[in-house]
Parts: sequence; C-alpha cells; structure tokens
Amino acid sequence: MKFSKMFIPTTKETPNDATLPSHRFLIRGGFISAQGAGLYNFMPLGKIVLEKIRNIVKEELDNAECNEVQLGFVTPMELWDASGRSAKMGPEMVRLKDRKGNDFVLSPTNEEAMVELVKNRITSYKDLPVNLYQINTKFRDEARPRFGLMRGREFLMKDGYSFHASHEDMMREFDLMEETYKKIFTRLGLEFRVVEADSGAIGGTGSKEFMVLADSGEDTIVVCKGCEYGANIEAAIREKRDVKSEKIELDTKKVLTENLTSIDEVSDFLGVKPSQTIKAVIKKAIYEDGEKVVVFFVRGDDELEETKAANTVNALELIDADEEDIKEAGLVAGYVGPFGLDEGVEFVIDNELKDETVMVCGANEEDYHHTGMDLSGLENLKYGDLTAVQEGDKCSCCGGELHYTKGIEAGHIFQLGTVYSQPLDAKFLDANGKAQPFIMGTYGIGVSRLVAAVIEQNHDEKGCIWSRATAPYSVNIIISNAKKEEELNAGVQIYEELKSAGVEVILDDRVNARFGFKMSDFELIGFPYAVLVGKKLQEGSVEIVDRKTLEKTEVPLSEVSKHILALLG
Ligand code: ATP
Ligand code: MG
Repeated sequence: MKFSKMFIPTTKETPNDATLPSHRFLIRGGFISAQGAGLYNFMPLGKIVLEKIRNIVKEELDNAECNEVQLGFVTPMELWDASGRSAKMGPEMVRLKDRKGNDFVLSPTNEEAMVELVKNRITSYKDLPVNLYQINTKFRDEARPRFGLMRGREFLMKDGYSFHASHEDMMREFDLMEETYKKIFTRLGLEFRVVEADSGAIGGTGSKEFMVLADSGEDTIVVCKGCEYGANIEAAIREKRDVKSEKIELDTKKVLTENLTSIDEVSDFLGVKPSQTIKAVIKKAIYEDGEKVVVFFVRGDDELEETKAANTVNALELIDADEEDIKEAGLVAGYVGPFGLDEGVEFVIDNELKDETVMVCGANEEDYHHTGMDLSGLENLKYGDLTAVQEGDKCSCCGGELHYTKGIEAGHIFQLGTVYSQPLDAKFLDANGKAQPFIMGTYGIGVSRLVAAVIEQNHDEKGCIWSRATAPYSVNIIISNAKKEEELNAGVQIYEELKSAGVEVILDDRVNARFGFKMSDFELIGFPYAVLVGKKLQEGSVEIVDRKTLEKTEVPLSEVSKHILALLG
C-alpha cells in the first residue's frame, strides 16, 4: 500500500478527554475517530489492526473446535423477560420500540439469544458438547464511557457460549478456553495474567479474567510474589490475619467515648490497636425491586471490598448511605456495633471476625463503645467474606507476600451452569432419556478494547509501538524526497521486493510531505520498522529504523530485503 493512496489523517491535536496514551495516539495516529461519547469509527489503519486481532481470535477459537455464528444485534425484549434479566440489567441496556410498539434491546451480551438458538435444535446428549461464538457489536450505555476504545459504549466483543451434558464436560471446556485465550494473548504479544474473578451480573460460579498488565488499567489485581496466585481484588482472598499478639486485655463494659467516632480516635483513646476494634460500614444495597440499608462489620484496620460485600447480600450494587438513610434505619452514626442492634437492621460480619474475643465496637448509643466483647457469644450471625486484601497480606495458597498490580480486563471466562438454560427452559435428553437443562459456560474477549490495550502496553512519548502480530504494516519505506527520481525509484524497488517476499509493507511516497513530517508520522503510527531512503543513497545504502529503540542501521541497498526478512524472522 502507498501512503499517497491511503486515508491516514494523522494530527497533532490531542482530544481534551484523552488522558490515556492509547486514546491519544489512536486518535492522533489516524486509527480511530470519535463520533460521540463512547462511539468510535475505525479508519483504514484502525480497521486493519482490528481485523488482525479479530483473525487471531478466530483462528485460535476455530483450532479449539468452536463454531463461529453471528446473532442479530437487536434482540427482542421477550428473551430478556424470560431470563429475568430485563429487570436486572439497569440503564446500561438500551431499550427501544419499533413502529408497532414492540420492545427491543441493543445487545449488551447474548446469553439469552444463544440459548434460544440452540434450544429445540440440540435435543440429545449425543449432540453435545458444542461451543458457539461470534465477534460482533455490543452496546452498553456505560455510566462513564472513557479512555477511548477501552470503555466505549458501542464496542466489538467476541462472545462464546458452550453447551454440555455434564458439569465435568463444561469444566473441561472451561480449561480448554483458558488455554486457548492464553494462546491468543501470547500471539498478540501481550504481557498478561489470568486471575480469579467475581462473576458479577452474568451469574454462575467460577470465573477467570485475562488481565493485560498496564499501569493505566482500571482493575486492581492481587498477585503473589511466591506462587502463581492472582485474583481481581473483587475476588481476592488471603490467609486469615493473626492479630492475637496485637491485642491487650480489656474488661467487658460500656465506656464513654464522647465525640470519638473514628476507629483511630477510639483506639488511641483506649490504647488498643485498630485491629482490636470492629468497624461498621453502612451501605445502601440496591435490588431489582428496591433498596435497604445494610451494615457490614470488618476489623478496624481492614477495608470493605464492595463487590464481595454486595455478593453476601445478593445486591446488584452498594451505594453510600447518607445521613437520612442512617437515621431512618435507627442507626447511631459513629457508634454502630453488632451487639444490641435493632432487630430490623440487616448486618453481615466479616469471616475473619468469627469468634473473636476482647473486641472494641460501637454500643449503638451516642458517645458509647463496648470493650472486651466476645463475638462467639452472639447467635445467628451472618458471616461473609467482606474485606479487601491489602498489600503485604499473606497468600492463602503458599504463605507468600501479596501485592497489587494494575490490569486491563481483556477477557473473561465463566462457568455458568444452568442459570440461563433453566429459566429459558432449554433442555436436552440425557442418556437415561430424562430432560435436563444444558450446562453452560460463557467466554468473552474485548476485541476493540484489545486495540487500546496493545498500545497501553507498547508506546513511548512519541506514539504507538505495535507488536508484530498487530502492526497495520510491518515496514514503512520512507522516501525522503519523493520528487527526486532516484530516491523514488529505489523506494519503489524495495517496496516491490518486500511485497513479493510476503512482507506487509507501506511506501511513504508523499510528494508534499517533508522528511521530518514523514518520520514523525512513522513514530506516531508505530510500524515496527522503517527503511529510510534518502541521503545515504549516494553511497548505495539506506537506513533501517527499529521503532522500539529508534536505532538506525545502515545497510547496502542490495541487502535491505535480506535484513528486513531476518528482522521479521
Ligand atoms: P468491565 O468490568 O471492564 O466493565 P465487564 O466485566 O462488564 O467489563 P464482560 O461482560 O465480562 O465485561 O465482557 C467481556 C469483555 O468485553 C470484557 O472482558 C472486556 O474486555 C470487554 N468489554 C466490556 N465492556 C466494555 C466496554 N465498555 N468497552 C470495550 N470493551 C468492553
Ligand atoms: Mg468481566
């Protein structure tokens, strides 16, 4: 391809909202253009990259014997009513009516439609398993679309769904998908980590996320220094903390703690470590059909992990409770404790506080705390895993030290079970002739998000540095002055040679662009290599530039192809 024939509108302008390098460079490099909040067009270079990623995803899935399909983007509301998700999905799911008043949805995901596709078409265990996937547009009216392709509203997702006659077989496929995804991310040249994840609104049990490691990632992941353990903070666990040695003896009594409402104030006053206190975190739990105030009790120096906490009360999400909510629930802010709470107040206690003794906690009375409290004395308590793992905590697998890193969620695989097949009444006949709901798995990859993720991991202050597998072209031949016939001829000759050797090559033959401009386009766009055809031509040579290191190597004209082929391996 020739630059002169291609639409590559590079620009120096950085969009106001572009805080991430990938967002800035993809716009400035002429890969994508914004059409509205979270809505992007792919221009020629962006489209090539997107297709490259899509093809790698497709090749590996096809190798794993998955079947590509394509479902309609607009899905009838009845499907979502039948699964019960029309109520659960909230405003992220865009609903619309046709001229007859029928309700539809712009698909944010496609579990329902895929189950419907298979239902009554696969009727026997003999026809299982099957894994169907598509690479198709999704729409989610994200509350805060941002970071360019990273969190768009319209985006390209690979979503796959597998159907099985047994749990064991679904687990086999889940493992196969994990391996397949690893191959995909490795081929893309990405540094990534597979981590334990929360299953969120999709439902089901086990799930794993594929995190592309990058400081700009929105997800915090907990990884062990000593072993392979890794988990999204929303699902991370740790070895139970042992705080016995930090505790002091305290009488069991109610003490005046006037105006002391924070953990630090109370522990200072009583001369205890915060780990000997119980902290109350008051939240409003949001449900499909309403909301309620819930109190979560964690150790004084632990933090509440909201996703874990929401899961313990089956809430869609937790939001902060305001003064009004707290008062209405009959709670005394700053002095809430598990002993003597009003019967109507729902509360959950962190697992690590189970049977703790000599604790300090609020007395549910203005200005008072209890000391020396014994939790084993309370009956019918609801316990759950509520705490956020902190850096320096111990790994529950190996005892090693846990630390945080940031990641971009690029893929997510779920063990679904029958959460969709059951309500949608999608069944097959098992070996005994008995009707059973399909056991399912589901597997997603953010294909358009990956375009951005590659750049988050591979860029410098000048622009993009594409990995070999994702580069729109591997080599950019830059003709310094295309008005000079000898330069143009030499450039075209190298171009033809490389093209016939099967190299993806682009020729910057623009007559009206100066060398410096062409060079900065090369750096901004980020082709892996450039061949500079210019001054050195008089000595019979050209220069090869490595985009990553920006190092230049002089090579004789006759050996350019050989060098490039060696570099591309
Ligand atoms: P996130 O936690 O980032 O909002 P999610 O857990 O809601 O993502 P899934 O439902 O697991 O996303 O979707 C599968 C994949 O689709 C994700 O792993 C991610 O790579 C991609 N994806 C999800 N939301 C977006 C978005 N708004 N823009 C681009 N890609 C997205
Ligand atoms: Mg996810």
